[in-house]
Amino acid sequence: MAAIPGLRVFLSSVHGYGVRATHAFKEGDLMADIEGVVRREGEQWDDRYTLRITDSLWLDMVDQTRWINHSCTANAEVDLGVDEHGAPWAKLYAWRDIAAGEEVTWDYEFPASLAEPCSCGSAKCRGWIVREEELSLVLPR
Ligand SMILES: [Zn+2]
Repeated sequence: MAAIPGLRVFLSSVHGYGVRATHAFKEGDLMADIEGVVRREGEQWDDRYTLRITDSLWLDMVDQTRWINHSCTANAEVDLGVDEHGAPWAKLYAWRDIAAGEEVTWDYEFPASLAEPCSCGSAKCRGWIVREEELSLVLPR
């Protein structure tokens, strides 16, 4: 598989592998058309690197985007949906300007039922990897 231009996997200080930008991105730039393998309800797979597209459809990320870490103050965002043929899609966009060399992060926004303690290091860290509006459901840490 061809590597996505501008994104490079590295050993992150945040958590395990991470991804950093090898060139600058502008706010709103499409950074990656995420490649993934479609997974359906009832299947068994390692779901740690999976995007939930609908209640019964997931996309198991198989390109560099798989290694992008969560941050409570992310610099990128993932937009996703299902196309007219029923196939899931996901795209990574720059949430703000990103400098070359900067770690790329997105806010995983887990539902409260899947919340995990967060150690992203952001000054605005919520303490949990969870949707902001569901934070009250997992407090106090
Ligand atoms: Zn955090």
